[in-house]
Amino acid sequence: MHTVQSKPELPVVLAKARGKVSAWLVPLLIASSMFVGPAPAASLELSNAVRTHPDGRLPIQELFRAYQTLLEKGWRLDIVSQSQPQGRAYPLPIIALRTPQAGEAVWILSGIHGEEPAGPNAIAASIEAIAILGEQRPVVLLPLNNPHGYVNNWRYLNMATYSETVEGQSVGDSSHLLVDPDNPALARAPAASSSEADAITAYVLRQAASYPPAISIDLHEDNLISEGYVYSQGELGTADPLALAAVRVLEENGIPLKMSGETRFGEPISGGIIGPVVDGSIDELMSAGSIIVDGQPRPGPEAGTVLVFETPADRVGLQTRIDAHSALLRKLAEQLASPED
Ligand SMILES: [Zn+2]
Repeated sequence: MHTVQSKPELPVVLAKARGKVSAWLVPLLIASSMFVGPAPAASLELSNAVRTHPDGRLPIQELFRAYQTLLEKGWRLDIVSQSQPQGRAYPLPIIALRTPQAGEAVWILSGIHGEEPAGPNAIAASIEAIAILGEQRPVVLLPLNNPHGYVNNWRYLNMATYSETVEGQSVGDSSHLLVDPDNPALARAPAASSSEADAITAYVLRQAASYPPAISIDLHEDNLISEGYVYSQGELGTADPLALAAVRVLEENGIPLKMSGETRFGEPISGGIIGPVVDGSIDELMSAGSIIVDGQPRPGPEAGTVLVFETPADRVGLQTRIDAHSALLRKLAEQLASPED
Protein backbone atom coordinates (compact mmCIF):
# COMPACT_ATOMS: atom_id res chain seq x y z
CA MET A 1 0.00 0.00 0.00
CA HIS A 2 1.49 3.29 -1.01
CA THR A 3 0.95 6.47 0.85
CA VAL A 4 0.29 9.71 -0.92
CA GLN A 5 2.19 12.71 0.26
CA SER A 6 0.05 15.65 1.22
CA LYS A 7 0.45 18.71 -0.98
CA PRO A 8 0.40 21.81 1.18
CA GLU A 9 -1.96 23.65 -1.15
CA LEU A 10 -4.52 20.84 -1.34
CA PRO A 11 -6.36 21.41 1.95
CA VAL A 12 -6.45 25.11 1.13
CA VAL A 13 -8.01 24.46 -2.26
CA LEU A 14 -10.61 22.18 -0.74
CA ALA A 15 -11.29 24.54 2.12
CA LYS A 16 -11.77 27.43 -0.28
CA ALA A 17 -14.03 25.35 -2.49
CA ARG A 18 -16.19 24.37 0.44
CA GLY A 19 -17.67 27.84 0.65
CA LYS A 20 -19.37 27.66 -2.73
CA VAL A 21 -20.42 24.07 -3.35
CA SER A 22 -23.92 22.78 -3.73
CA ALA A 23 -25.20 20.40 -1.08
CA TRP A 24 -24.99 17.38 -3.36
CA LEU A 25 -21.27 17.87 -3.95
CA VAL A 26 -20.52 17.94 -0.25
CA PRO A 27 -19.94 14.17 -0.03
CA LEU A 28 -16.98 14.61 -2.37
CA LEU A 29 -15.37 17.13 -0.08
CA ILE A 30 -16.26 15.32 3.11
CA ALA A 31 -14.72 12.18 1.64
CA SER A 32 -11.56 14.19 0.98
CA SER A 33 -11.38 15.66 4.45
CA MET A 34 -12.06 12.34 6.17
CA PHE A 35 -8.53 11.20 5.39
CA VAL A 36 -6.77 12.29 8.56
CA GLY A 37 -3.16 11.94 9.57
CA PRO A 38 -0.01 12.92 7.77
CA ALA A 39 -0.84 11.54 4.31
CA PRO A 40 -4.32 12.52 3.14
CA ALA A 41 -5.39 11.59 -0.37
CA ALA A 42 -8.22 13.49 -1.98
CA SER A 43 -11.08 11.36 -3.22
CA LEU A 44 -12.73 12.30 -6.48
CA GLU A 45 -16.10 10.67 -5.98
CA LEU A 46 -18.32 13.09 -7.87
CA SER A 47 -22.04 13.11 -7.25
CA ASN A 48 -24.10 11.22 -9.82
CA ALA A 49 -26.07 14.43 -10.23
CA VAL A 50 -23.24 15.61 -12.51
CA ARG A 51 -24.50 14.53 -15.94
CA THR A 52 -22.13 14.17 -18.88
CA HIS A 53 -23.06 15.12 -22.45
CA PRO A 54 -24.60 11.89 -23.86
CA ASP A 55 -22.70 11.25 -27.09
CA GLY A 56 -21.03 8.00 -26.09
CA ARG A 57 -18.21 9.57 -24.07
CA LEU A 58 -17.65 8.13 -20.59
CA PRO A 59 -19.38 9.90 -17.69
CA ILE A 60 -16.91 12.13 -15.85
CA GLN A 61 -17.29 9.96 -12.72
CA GLU A 62 -15.93 6.97 -14.64
CA LEU A 63 -13.04 8.96 -16.06
CA PHE A 64 -11.99 10.04 -12.56
CA ARG A 65 -12.33 6.45 -11.31
CA ALA A 66 -10.00 5.23 -14.07
CA TYR A 67 -7.47 8.04 -13.55
CA GLN A 68 -7.39 7.41 -9.81
CA THR A 69 -6.21 3.83 -10.26
CA LEU A 70 -2.75 5.42 -10.62
CA LEU A 71 -2.89 6.22 -6.90
CA GLU A 72 -2.64 2.48 -6.27
CA LYS A 73 0.76 2.64 -8.00
CA GLY A 74 1.92 5.39 -5.69
CA TRP A 75 1.21 8.34 -8.00
CA ARG A 76 0.41 11.71 -6.37
CA LEU A 77 -2.88 13.47 -7.00
CA ASP A 78 -2.96 17.26 -7.16
CA ILE A 79 -6.07 19.41 -7.40
CA VAL A 80 -4.83 22.10 -9.77
CA SER A 81 -7.97 24.17 -9.37
CA GLN A 82 -11.69 23.96 -8.74
CA SER A 83 -13.21 25.14 -12.00
CA GLN A 84 -16.53 26.95 -11.85
CA PRO A 85 -17.05 29.05 -14.98
CA GLN A 86 -19.66 31.79 -15.02
CA GLY A 87 -23.19 30.36 -14.95
CA ARG A 88 -22.21 26.90 -13.66
CA ALA A 89 -23.90 25.80 -10.43
CA TYR A 90 -21.03 23.79 -8.94
CA PRO A 91 -17.25 23.46 -9.16
CA LEU A 92 -15.46 20.52 -10.77
CA PRO A 93 -11.81 19.77 -10.03
CA ILE A 94 -9.00 20.07 -12.56
CA ILE A 95 -6.67 17.28 -11.54
CA ALA A 96 -3.08 16.25 -12.16
CA LEU A 97 -1.39 12.97 -11.35
CA ARG A 98 2.37 12.49 -11.19
CA THR A 99 4.73 9.63 -10.54
CA PRO A 100 6.38 9.48 -7.11
CA GLN A 101 9.72 9.63 -8.95
CA ALA A 102 10.55 13.19 -10.08
CA GLY A 103 13.03 14.09 -12.83
CA GLU A 104 12.96 14.69 -16.60
CA ALA A 105 9.39 13.77 -17.37
CA VAL A 106 6.85 12.85 -20.00
CA TRP A 107 3.89 15.21 -19.71
CA ILE A 108 0.51 14.10 -21.04
CA LEU A 109 -2.29 16.64 -21.37
CA SER A 110 -5.85 16.28 -22.59
CA GLY A 111 -9.35 17.69 -22.43
CA ILE A 112 -8.29 21.31 -22.99
CA HIS A 113 -11.26 21.67 -25.35
CA GLY A 114 -14.47 20.23 -23.93
CA GLU A 115 -15.99 19.14 -27.24
CA GLU A 116 -13.02 16.83 -27.90
CA PRO A 117 -13.77 13.71 -25.84
CA ALA A 118 -11.43 11.17 -27.51
CA GLY A 119 -8.29 12.15 -25.54
CA PRO A 120 -9.71 11.98 -21.99
CA ASN A 121 -11.49 8.69 -22.86
CA ALA A 122 -8.35 7.22 -24.43
CA ILE A 123 -6.31 8.08 -21.32
CA ALA A 124 -8.89 6.22 -19.19
CA ALA A 125 -8.72 3.24 -21.58
CA SER A 126 -4.88 3.30 -21.59
CA ILE A 127 -4.30 3.94 -17.90
CA GLU A 128 -2.46 0.63 -17.51
CA ALA A 129 0.05 1.55 -20.25
CA ILE A 130 0.53 4.96 -18.64
CA ALA A 131 1.12 3.28 -15.27
CA ILE A 132 3.76 1.03 -16.85
CA LEU A 133 5.45 4.05 -18.47
CA GLY A 134 5.44 5.66 -15.02
CA GLU A 135 7.46 2.74 -13.68
CA GLN A 136 10.16 3.47 -16.30
CA ARG A 137 10.35 7.26 -16.10
CA PRO A 138 8.71 10.27 -14.45
CA VAL A 139 5.30 11.22 -15.83
CA VAL A 140 2.93 14.13 -15.17
CA LEU A 141 -0.64 13.59 -16.37
CA LEU A 142 -3.28 16.33 -16.72
CA PRO A 143 -6.06 14.22 -18.22
CA LEU A 144 -9.09 16.53 -18.16
CA ASN A 145 -8.18 20.19 -18.09
CA ASN A 146 -11.66 21.53 -18.80
CA PRO A 147 -14.07 19.35 -16.79
CA HIS A 148 -17.10 21.61 -17.30
CA GLY A 149 -16.34 21.72 -21.01
CA TYR A 150 -16.28 17.93 -21.08
CA VAL A 151 -19.52 17.55 -19.13
CA ASN A 152 -21.34 20.14 -21.26
CA ASN A 153 -19.61 19.60 -24.62
CA TRP A 154 -18.37 23.19 -24.52
CA ARG A 155 -15.03 23.97 -26.18
CA TYR A 156 -14.23 26.95 -23.98
CA LEU A 157 -15.08 28.18 -20.50
CA ASN A 158 -17.28 30.97 -21.84
CA MET A 159 -18.73 29.49 -25.03
CA ALA A 160 -19.62 26.20 -26.65
CA THR A 161 -17.91 26.42 -30.03
CA TYR A 162 -15.05 27.98 -31.93
CA SER A 163 -15.73 31.42 -33.36
CA GLU A 164 -13.67 33.58 -35.70
CA THR A 165 -15.07 36.76 -34.21
CA VAL A 166 -15.51 36.15 -30.45
CA GLU A 167 -12.53 35.24 -28.27
CA GLY A 168 -13.08 31.89 -26.58
CA GLN A 169 -11.48 31.46 -23.15
CA SER A 170 -9.37 28.32 -23.46
CA VAL A 171 -8.13 26.74 -20.23
CA GLY A 172 -4.78 26.32 -22.02
CA ASP A 173 -4.30 30.03 -22.80
CA SER A 174 -0.68 30.86 -22.02
CA SER A 175 -0.39 34.30 -23.62
CA HIS A 176 0.21 35.93 -20.22
CA LEU A 177 3.51 34.00 -19.98
CA LEU A 178 4.63 33.89 -23.61
CA VAL A 179 6.97 36.47 -25.06
CA ASP A 180 5.37 39.07 -27.33
CA PRO A 181 7.22 38.73 -30.67
CA ASP A 182 6.75 42.47 -31.29
CA ASN A 183 8.03 43.48 -27.88
CA PRO A 184 10.20 40.69 -26.41
CA ALA A 185 10.41 42.39 -23.00
CA LEU A 186 6.67 41.90 -22.52
CA ALA A 187 4.20 39.03 -22.34
CA ARG A 188 1.52 38.90 -25.05
CA ALA A 189 -1.26 39.48 -22.54
CA PRO A 190 -1.17 41.42 -19.27
CA ALA A 191 -3.02 38.71 -17.33
CA ALA A 192 -4.35 35.17 -17.69
CA SER A 193 -7.62 34.95 -19.60
CA SER A 194 -9.26 32.90 -16.80
CA SER A 195 -8.52 31.63 -13.32
CA GLU A 196 -8.34 28.13 -14.83
CA ALA A 197 -5.65 29.14 -17.36
CA ASP A 198 -3.83 30.91 -14.54
CA ALA A 199 -3.93 27.83 -12.30
CA ILE A 200 -2.99 25.31 -15.01
CA THR A 201 -0.04 27.33 -16.34
CA ALA A 202 1.15 28.07 -12.78
CA TYR A 203 0.96 24.35 -12.03
CA VAL A 204 3.03 23.58 -15.14
CA LEU A 205 5.73 26.06 -14.15
CA ARG A 206 5.76 24.93 -10.52
CA GLN A 207 6.00 21.20 -11.34
CA ALA A 208 8.43 21.80 -14.23
CA ALA A 209 11.03 22.64 -11.58
CA SER A 210 11.04 19.02 -10.32
CA TYR A 211 9.50 17.29 -13.38
CA PRO A 212 11.12 19.21 -16.28
CA PRO A 213 9.19 18.23 -19.43
CA ALA A 214 11.43 16.32 -21.86
CA ILE A 215 8.38 15.31 -23.89
CA SER A 216 4.92 16.85 -23.88
CA ILE A 217 1.92 15.23 -25.54
CA ASP A 218 -1.44 16.97 -25.87
CA LEU A 219 -4.46 15.04 -27.19
CA HIS A 220 -6.87 17.16 -29.24
CA GLU A 221 -9.52 16.77 -31.90
CA ASP A 222 -11.08 19.08 -34.45
CA ASN A 223 -14.70 18.79 -35.53
CA LEU A 224 -14.20 21.30 -38.36
CA ILE A 225 -11.78 19.10 -40.30
CA SER A 226 -12.19 15.75 -42.05
CA GLU A 227 -8.46 14.92 -42.06
CA GLY A 228 -6.24 15.11 -39.00
CA TYR A 229 -2.60 16.08 -38.43
CA VAL A 230 0.10 16.34 -35.79
CA TYR A 231 1.68 19.56 -34.52
CA SER A 232 5.33 19.19 -33.53
CA GLN A 233 6.28 22.27 -31.50
CA GLY A 234 9.68 21.05 -30.28
CA GLU A 235 13.18 21.72 -31.60
CA LEU A 236 13.08 19.00 -34.30
CA GLY A 237 9.76 20.25 -35.69
CA THR A 238 8.49 18.20 -38.63
CA ALA A 239 11.53 15.87 -38.36
CA ASP A 240 10.78 14.73 -34.80
CA PRO A 241 10.84 10.90 -34.86
CA LEU A 242 7.99 10.72 -32.34
CA ALA A 243 5.82 12.90 -34.61
CA LEU A 244 6.64 10.59 -37.54
CA ALA A 245 5.72 7.56 -35.40
CA ALA A 246 2.46 9.25 -34.39
CA VAL A 247 1.49 9.84 -38.03
CA ARG A 248 2.02 6.13 -38.75
CA VAL A 249 -0.07 5.05 -35.75
CA LEU A 250 -2.94 7.38 -36.70
CA GLU A 251 -2.89 6.08 -40.28
CA GLU A 252 -2.82 2.46 -39.11
CA ASN A 253 -5.85 3.16 -36.94
CA GLY A 254 -8.12 4.44 -39.65
CA ILE A 255 -7.68 8.19 -39.12
CA PRO A 256 -7.63 10.11 -42.41
CA LEU A 257 -4.70 12.55 -42.36
CA LYS A 258 -3.94 15.66 -44.32
CA MET A 259 -0.40 15.01 -45.52
CA SER A 260 0.32 18.33 -47.29
CA GLY A 261 -1.16 21.74 -47.96
CA GLU A 262 -2.29 23.87 -45.01
CA THR A 263 -4.25 23.55 -41.75
CA ARG A 264 -7.51 25.49 -41.43
CA PHE A 265 -5.39 28.18 -39.75
CA GLY A 266 -3.13 28.44 -42.83
CA GLU A 267 -0.14 26.60 -41.33
CA PRO A 268 1.92 24.49 -43.77
CA ILE A 269 1.68 20.68 -43.39
CA SER A 270 4.56 18.39 -44.30
CA GLY A 271 3.95 14.63 -44.19
CA GLY A 272 0.98 15.12 -41.87
CA ILE A 273 3.08 17.24 -39.47
CA ILE A 274 3.13 20.98 -38.75
CA GLY A 275 6.30 22.51 -37.29
CA PRO A 276 6.41 25.06 -34.43
CA VAL A 277 3.61 27.65 -34.46
CA VAL A 278 2.91 30.77 -32.43
CA ASP A 279 -0.59 30.21 -31.05
CA GLY A 280 -0.54 31.18 -27.36
CA SER A 281 -1.29 27.58 -26.36
CA ILE A 282 -0.01 25.58 -23.44
CA ASP A 283 1.96 23.57 -26.01
CA GLU A 284 3.80 26.71 -27.08
CA LEU A 285 4.48 27.30 -23.37
CA MET A 286 5.86 23.75 -23.01
CA SER A 287 8.31 24.36 -25.86
CA ALA A 288 9.24 27.95 -24.88
CA GLY A 289 12.92 28.57 -24.10
CA SER A 290 12.12 31.83 -22.35
CA ILE A 291 8.95 33.21 -20.84
CA ILE A 292 7.78 36.31 -18.93
CA VAL A 293 6.59 35.86 -15.36
CA ASP A 294 5.30 38.93 -13.51
CA GLY A 295 7.05 41.15 -16.03
CA GLN A 296 10.42 39.42 -15.64
CA PRO A 297 12.14 37.17 -18.22
CA ARG A 298 12.64 33.60 -17.05
CA PRO A 299 13.76 30.34 -18.64
CA GLY A 300 10.77 28.40 -20.00
CA PRO A 301 9.99 24.67 -19.71
CA GLU A 302 11.72 24.10 -23.10
CA ALA A 303 10.53 20.55 -23.73
CA GLY A 304 12.52 19.02 -26.60
CA THR A 305 9.50 17.22 -28.08
CA VAL A 306 6.04 18.79 -27.97
CA LEU A 307 3.32 16.98 -29.89
CA VAL A 308 -0.33 17.93 -30.36
CA PHE A 309 -2.57 15.37 -32.03
CA GLU A 310 -5.63 16.53 -33.94
CA THR A 311 -8.04 13.77 -34.96
CA PRO A 312 -10.92 14.75 -37.27
CA ALA A 313 -14.19 14.54 -35.38
CA ASP A 314 -16.22 15.49 -38.42
CA ARG A 315 -16.71 12.13 -40.14
CA VAL A 316 -14.89 9.64 -37.93
CA GLY A 317 -16.91 7.98 -35.14
CA LEU A 318 -16.00 8.56 -31.50
CA GLN A 319 -14.94 4.97 -30.79
CA THR A 320 -12.53 4.98 -33.74
CA ARG A 321 -11.03 8.24 -32.50
CA ILE A 322 -10.72 6.92 -28.94
CA ASP A 323 -9.06 3.75 -30.26
CA ALA A 324 -6.62 5.82 -32.34
CA HIS A 325 -5.66 8.03 -29.37
CA SER A 326 -5.30 4.88 -27.22
CA ALA A 327 -3.02 3.31 -29.84
CA LEU A 328 -0.96 6.52 -29.86
CA LEU A 329 -0.62 6.49 -26.08
CA ARG A 330 0.38 2.82 -26.03
CA LYS A 331 2.88 3.28 -28.86
CA LEU A 332 4.46 6.35 -27.27
CA ALA A 333 4.51 4.70 -23.84
CA GLU A 334 6.28 1.71 -25.37
CA GLN A 335 8.75 3.85 -27.28
CA LEU A 336 9.47 6.23 -24.39
CA ALA A 337 9.98 3.40 -21.90
CA SER A 338 12.74 1.87 -24.00
CA PRO A 339 16.26 2.61 -22.70
CA GLU A 340 17.72 4.01 -25.97
CA ASP A 341 15.43 7.05 -25.78
ZN1 LIG B 1 -8.56 21.15 -29.41
